[in-house]
Amino acid sequence: MKEFKIAVIAGDGIGVEVMEEALHVLNVLQDYEKDLVLHMEKLPWGSDYYLENGSMMPDDGLDILKKFDAILFGAIGDARVPDDVTIWELIMPIRKQFQQYVNFRPVKSLEGIKSPLSNVDNIDFVIFRENAEGEYSNSGGRMFDSQSSELAIQNTIMTRKGIERITKAASDYAVKNGKKKVTSATKSNAVIHAMKLWDECVKQTVLIDFPELQLESVYIDALVAYLVQRPHTFEVVVASNLFGDILSDLGSAIVGGLGLSPSANINPEKKFPSMFEPVHGSAPDIAGKGIANPIAQVWSAALMLDHLGRKDLSTKIIKAIEEVLSEGKVKTADIGGNATTKQMGAVIVEKIKDQY
Ligand code: ATP
Ligand code: MG
Repeated sequence: MKEFKIAVIAGDGIGVEVMEEALHVLNVLQDYEKDLVLHMEKLPWGSDYYLENGSMMPDDGLDILKKFDAILFGAIGDARVPDDVTIWELIMPIRKQFQQYVNFRPVKSLEGIKSPLSNVDNIDFVIFRENAEGEYSNSGGRMFDSQSSELAIQNTIMTRKGIERITKAASDYAVKNGKKKVTSATKSNAVIHAMKLWDECVKQTVLIDFPELQLESVYIDALVAYLVQRPHTFEVVVASNLFGDILSDLGSAIVGGLGLSPSANINPEKKFPSMFEPVHGSAPDIAGKGIANPIAQVWSAALMLDHLGRKDLSTKIIKAIEEVLSEGKVKTADIGGNATTKQMGAVIVEKIKDQY
């Protein structure tokens, strides 16, 4: 029997509230599954920690995390701490140090949840966003030109290795999950250096290593329109850091919003721990009221179990979420109801128990 060590970083705001429900679900699964042993350790890192200690995590935070099999993350963000501190001192170091170069986001229609798009109800695709390089680099600078006019240079960094490995991860997923088509988001007609390399590497990787897959390459501006007009025609989308970021929020919006959207930051080689977190932030506007939707966090825990080799349990959790939503009796405010975070967590747990 394999035992797993899970680092739990609930973080700030609603992160703390929704994490309670995810832990509730994991604990119930452990009660039923005698061969599931999760050693969960809560790490009190985040903005409160920063205000007390001057940093978001201890100096040896990454060494501590390295010993875990996975990281379950809530959310961070606090008005008293600058945004770039919360991101660059906690999330970014984890993603970079642990080579979590895949950001995985499922986008799926859910019965009982109305999409703002009236024409579709069978959306089911996943986004593989490149998570370690690309447009989000700190290479560049601000300066003045010869006429003393201010200018800024922001460099995009794309490497053959980086593009090939995200494409491989997306294609692997496609093959394992019976998908036939991979869609690559590009803009090589205008971003002629970086995106041409992107196109070349994506194409070669799919053609050579995954000849059974169909590859389509779509300009990002057209792709966002298609995701609104005919989202059901996509299966696996692979995108650079910036394009993937934008597509992910669009994806979340067309299937019901942030309260339902999980994500995973994955190191596919499993050399380092991967991190599982809801797409949403700490939501200061509703924090402390006990009304946040815990589904995105619970679903993120399901993605974690899948990554740890327990797809069976991940499937149980997602089935429970789908049943709760399709019944529509318990709904939090973001999806049109007035249930509390705890009530939503409890009904998901009930639906899991029903499966035993
Ligand atoms: P961050 O900078 O941390 O990403 P943000 O400003 O993008 O934060 P979020 O915290 O993601 O904001 O929240 C955006 C909006 O969505 C807020 O109005 C928030 O209340 C709502 N929201 C986010 N997550 C949830 C949730 N789980 N349940 C209900 N509402 C949510
Ligand atoms: Mg945000």
